[in-house]
Amino acid sequence: MIVDNIENVDLCIVGAGLAGLNALYAAKQYLPKNATVALVDKRESIGGMWNDTYDYVRLHQPYKQFTIGNMKWGLDRHESYLADRHEILAHFKRCVSEVEQHLTVIPLMQHSYLSHDSQDDGIVQVRLASKETTRQIHTKKLIKSVGFGIEPSQVLAFSSDKVHSITPEQIPQNQQHIIDSNKPIYIVGGGKTAMDTAHYLLQANPQLPIHLIIGKGTYFLNRDIMFPPGLDKYWKGTTSLDMMTQCATLFNGDNEAEVTQFVKSKYALSPHKDAQQFLLGLLSQSELDIVTQGCKTIVRDYLDDIKDNGDETQLCFRSGETQPIESGAWIINCTGYLLNSDVQSEQYHSQCGNVISINNSDNPLLFSSGYFLPHVFFQDKIKDTPLLSIDHVALKKANAEAFPFVAMTQLLYNFYTLMDKLPLKVIDQFHANFDKWYPLHRQLFGFTKFMINKKKNKKHFESSLLRVKEKYNL
Ligand SMILES: Cc1cc2nc3c(=O)[nH]c(=O)nc-3n(C[C@H](O)[C@H](O)[C@H](O)COP(=O)(O)OP(=O)(O)OC[C@H]3O[C@@H](n4cnc5c(N)ncnc54)[C@H](O)[C@@H]3O)c2cc1C
Repeated sequence: MIVDNIENVDLCIVGAGLAGLNALYAAKQYLPKNATVALVDKRESIGGMWNDTYDYVRLHQPYKQFTIGNMKWGLDRHESYLADRHEILAHFKRCVSEVEQHLTVIPLMQHSYLSHDSQDDGIVQVRLASKETTRQIHTKKLIKSVGFGIEPSQVLAFSSDKVHSITPEQIPQNQQHIIDSNKPIYIVGGGKTAMDTAHYLLQANPQLPIHLIIGKGTYFLNRDIMFPPGLDKYWKGTTSLDMMTQCATLFNGDNEAEVTQFVKSKYALSPHKDAQQFLLGLLSQSELDIVTQGCKTIVRDYLDDIKDNGDETQLCFRSGETQPIESGAWIINCTGYLLNSDVQSEQYHSQCGNVISINNSDNPLLFSSGYFLPHVFFQDKIKDTPLLSIDHVALKKANAEAFPFVAMTQLLYNFYTLMDKLPLKVIDQFHANFDKWYPLHRQLFGFTKFMINKKKNKKHFESSLLRVKEKYNL
């Protein structure tokens, strides 16, 4: 439904992905019945990146640990089930329907946010553009939740035209052709998309001639440790809070190599022993086995180009190495989506206090910003809740290895601050909290331990974070 001539709304949310929908769901608790909310997105429908990412994508975490607020899933699957993108989108749609029973939601899909201005009377003017026109909205509050700038990936361009260069999104339509061609398949990238792609292809056809080119290599948290199934969750595994606290306690702002070794030895899995990159993704041992046993080679290097050299076509690596490649081979671009886009750095809240931004660069609570920041905002506590900010995009460019440990330390540090400001009920209703996987006694034990060490931890976390800010001029 496109509604023309909207001028005044109570709330405008830009970005209808997980973060924007968390904001919408939170708004239901704070805004009066039938208050108007403009939900703006440049995509065709709600759901954010899940609308157009590759079709075989699955959640990293069990489905109940990925939700909006405390919304229950309509699925009745095994607790360890990893939902697919269609199920995720259906879950998101249920969220909007639920909110619509309380608020008047005006979806403005295929509208791009251009800019906004805060006026003296506290109203924010938001400028939007659709295909046909530009329009203005006047709102009391603005929440910008434009995400990580994730767009469908592009094919990699090479000097040689003797290979098929495709994206993960194009695999399903080319799958039979790929199998029938019996040509080697090179998956470029070592992160979640590369693992999903290798796993998807090998599970269906274990004999496919797949090669992985993994850059620095990525390591993943072992899902069997973070989410032990069945009765094991009563005594086995490690809660996320505990794992992150261990990392943040060991991290001092300078020793990311030591923390990397610690995580790899205790919690991680990787297709390559020297993998260095960590983006907090999850993988299980059985998934890894399918990938490592199925792949013909795993190269830890970056692919720079594919060139024709006389009669031979060659893979050219950043290290200077070259390798012959069969004509007609398939190259699948699984290089990263996250924190690579060149977005302009933006503060998470405005001076005037009526705009917040859940964005790529200033993301003080990592994956939980989308849930917690709107609650702090609606409770009018945004100015009195001093969260420590760090530009994540700049940090990842400056030191990618340190990034996950800084982000975890920052999350925990800011979480202590939030605990002083938000009612326990709001914290408890964050059902995407990975620790909700565990029985209540383990959640309570972990949480109590975390709170008992608050003073000591906060001091240490702050000193590590200030060290990082100073070191990289962030
Ligand atoms: C391949 C892949 C797999 C992932 N798997 C998982 C997983 O298993 N578990 C997990 O927890 N996380 C996963 N993630 C991380 C994932 O990005 C988040 O979980 C989450 O869904 C992101 O939500 P978001 O709202 O922050 O961003 P998005 O989903 O990107 O939503 C932001 C929205 O803002 C809109 N927008 C941007 N700019 C404008 C503008 N100027 N005007 C209007 N609209 C705009 C975009 O169109 C988009 O719809 C994955 C990410 C990727 C790339």
